[in-house]
Amino acid sequence: MAQGDTRPDRRPDWPATGAFHGFRQGDFDITVLSDGHITVPIGIVAPDGTPADRAEVLAATGDPAAGLVHYKTNIPVLRRGGEVILVDIGSGAKYQPSDGRLEQTLRAAGIVPEAVTRVVLTHGHPDHLWAMLAEDGRLRYPNATYHVGATEWDFWMDPDYRTAMPDVLHPFAEGAQRDFGAIRDRVVMLRPGDDVVTGIRVLDTAGHTPGHISLEVAGGDGLIIAGDVATSEIVSFRYPEARFGYDTLPDVAIRNRARLLARAAADRTRLLGYHWTYPGLGFAEPQGSGYRYVPG
Ligand SMILES: [Zn+2]
Repeated sequence: MAQGDTRPDRRPDWPATGAFHGFRQGDFDITVLSDGHITVPIGIVAPDGTPADRAEVLAATGDPAAGLVHYKTNIPVLRRGGEVILVDIGSGAKYQPSDGRLEQTLRAAGIVPEAVTRVVLTHGHPDHLWAMLAEDGRLRYPNATYHVGATEWDFWMDPDYRTAMPDVLHPFAEGAQRDFGAIRDRVVMLRPGDDVVTGIRVLDTAGHTPGHISLEVAGGDGLIIAGDVATSEIVSFRYPEARFGYDTLPDVAIRNRARLLARAAADRTRLLGYHWTYPGLGFAEPQGSGYRYVPG
């Protein structure tokens, strides 16, 4: 069974009881699982942040002594009839020691990997993709159809990535080529405006990566599964037009982040953020020149 996180900041990655957060959205039953957390240096989270902003982010969501922000990894599973849909799959044992827990939390929620019918990938970064293969090299979700943004696929599968991408991205490209390559014969390419299934629509939120997508789930005032369009529940909301150090196309990322938050605030659309404090659900409320994240 899933256990609570006992690391020093005492904020668990998921409920210690294993009672995962569940809710109804439209005609989907959604449960938020977790892959654990990753650590990100504060200089990446808030490269232009003030010392006060940085201290606040570290105190609320990280380890101030180490200067590391703990980015949780909230992974929704959406169920409707026979459909069991995961949005992103975590990193397996291939990225950081504090993540790679999704299969464990999925089983704790009573779902076996073989039951997953679809996997949607918001983008090709390790903390979202690298759990593709189990330790024995087979697909961890062997019965799933995989849905990937066409632009994202083309970016990472570039055979000339060594010359086309900066050195820092080469390990990510190698991992993406390994994992995308493993689903080559069962992938469905997505474009903005497509429906994954009825009630789940693809939104263009490029910038964090060139083909990053978010998903809008129909019902009520809507739910947007945002992925990494706004990675910090504090500074991404307060300063939507500030840089985030891991965005590949910063100007595009800023434009799409500002646009998404403005829309979510205006429409009172609920957001689910991959890296926010579990379960990563809340609203953007206008505050100053930006927004405030209100869990709910
Ligand atoms: Zn991420």
